[in-house]
Amino acid sequence: MKYISRIQLSLPSVLRAAAKRGEFYLEYQPVVELATKRWIGAEALVRWRRAGGEIVRPDTFIPIAEECGVITRITACVGEIVAADLPSLLQIDQEFFVAINLSAADLRSAETVELFRRMLNSSKAQPKNIAAEATERGFLQGKETSEILDAIRKQGIVVAIDDFGTGYSSLSCLQSLGLDVLKIDKSFVETIATDGVTSQVVPHIIDMAHSLKLFITAEGVETETQADFLRSRGVQFAQGWLFGKPMPIETLCELLVAQRTSPAVSSESNS
Ligand code: C2E
Ligand code: CA
Ligand code: CA
Repeated sequence: MKYISRIQLSLPSVLRAAAKRGEFYLEYQPVVELATKRWIGAEALVRWRRAGGEIVRPDTFIPIAEECGVITRITACVGEIVAADLPSLLQIDQEFFVAINLSAADLRSAETVELFRRMLNSSKAQPKNIAAEATERGFLQGKETSEILDAIRKQGIVVAIDDFGTGYSSLSCLQSLGLDVLKIDKSFVETIATDGVTSQVVPHIIDMAHSLKLFITAEGVETETQADFLRSRGVQFAQGWLFGKPMPIETLCELLVAQRTSPAVSSESNS
């Protein structure tokens, strides 16, 4: 008995059961155009509300889900929720996009291509309304990955490299991948206007992205000084607490409506 209950309670089965019971939900963090501070899209960030009401953050369960092979199931949940939420966002702004995070296993599975097809179908969104993000670790997995990646991009979905600078990507590797957007990791944005040695890395990353004709999104922007610096260097997009924290879909829709009717309304209402 004890053995059986231990198996039933093993982490993969707990995570699978959570997916089945709909315990995963999303918060959306706005992506802004730095020149105008206009919210042009949002990143979907998964959370887990356990039966007792406890909220588990993704940093805690995503690595476990990746390890035990449940991550593709969670990605499918995320995709379904985004597809259900997209119509209300598109009613406010037809150009708006939502980005979802993909793990290495998603980039090895043809199911991911199918997931985007289903999302496009059920939400009636256009490919420009959906984006995918994956870390360097996810991309560096050889031929299989690049085939899935190509298939996703052929659908018209924009692909971003996430947490750039924290892994081992080289310039040549970035060139060969065929990407649309480079996301500068928060740990580099934090060094802007400090005198630490790593503060010199940000301009290099920006120059490299420009030379590869990639769009750039800076993550974890918390101060006007950081935003000004990034804008002056030609970084087009940003995310961070300065503009908006992750929020429920209802709040995102409300604030978007307010922003579209009175553009002066921005992150202040969310802080
Ligand atoms: P990420 O993709 O780099 O997401 C950005 C994280 O930085 C989010 O944490 C967000 O809340 C946080 N953040 C954003 N702006 C700021 C800021 O200005 N200051 C600070 N201090 N933090 C900021 P979160 O939501 O806890 O997500 C953590 C990580 O979990 C994500 O990092 C991503 O790697 C992973 N993750 C989240 N959702 C998913 C998902 O649906 N699928 C997969 N595979 N991974 C996910
Ligand atoms: Ca991300
Ligand atoms: Ca990131």
